[in-house]
Amino acid sequence: MSIPKDGNTHSMPLSPPQQRFGKNPVKQRETDNYAQEYIKGFVDKWDELIDWDSRAESEGDFFIQALRKHNVRRVLDVATGTGFHSVRLLEAGFEVVSADGSPEMLVKAFENARHRGHILRTVQADWRWLNRDVRGEYDAIICLGNSFTHMFQERDRRKALAEYYAMLKHDGILILDQRNYDRILDDGFSSKHTYYYCGDNVRAAPEHIDDGLARFRYDFPDQSSYHLNMFPLRKHYMRRLMQEVGFQNIETFGDFQETYHDEEPDFYIHVAEKS
Ligand code: SAM
Repeated sequence: MSIPKDGNTHSMPLSPPQQRFGKNPVKQRETDNYAQEYIKGFVDKWDELIDWDSRAESEGDFFIQALRKHNVRRVLDVATGTGFHSVRLLEAGFEVVSADGSPEMLVKAFENARHRGHILRTVQADWRWLNRDVRGEYDAIICLGNSFTHMFQERDRRKALAEYYAMLKHDGILILDQRNYDRILDDGFSSKHTYYYCGDNVRAAPEHIDDGLARFRYDFPDQSSYHLNMFPLRKHYMRRLMQEVGFQNIETFGDFQETYHDEEPDFYIHVAEKS
């Protein structure tokens, strides 16, 4: 960075942070990429356009009921993001610790919670080393908003699930959701696989799909676009991994319903018990 002669760095225009996918974006298949994908502009827009009230309305009290059914008191939100679920659960009376690997996300989550009159207990932690960085045992761990899709290597997925397992009390539960990638992988993708979030605000469409990558583009009303490279988790594969790590009685819901036709739901939600 060159400093002007008057030494005034404030007058220099700063270019906004950019997502960096390089010359061949479909080659970017690393678990560590998440940190640079959620840049400030993307995160701010997301929060501005997908307002928390409509999100709360579409989810209903699914997660709150599931946690109460299992007598949960202490929750570890491992994918806090901008804080939506952490805040909802705090307001519903749960004790919540909010973790995320991205410090930018935690700053945003803390601010969002503060505006609603809460102080979030935040911890910066990557799932692969959760036990090193987060203290205590929890009745429930939540990993929501299609977050687990950011793990590209199977060893990372297994490591993360094992870390979740270890942080749960003996009768604890894991709630983890994922996009219905089976539908996209099996049917190919076309305009019918365009997802609109909260009306016409955000349009999300797959740009590239193969067995190891789902690259989505997110278009916002101000013409800006952002991308996410994600691993397309199949439902049965995800259930098997959880089982192999030791989770039991895994129930899978489709779009917050107990019964569903395989091709219908946009999202699956797995509720898995430690014992
Ligand atoms: N749960 C929030 C929601 O539903 O709005 C946020 C979801 S956002 C799609 C995914 C979050 O997972 C991001 O905040 C990202 O930083 C975090 N994340 C992805 N991979 C991670 C990892 N390996 N360790 C910790 N956090 C990770």
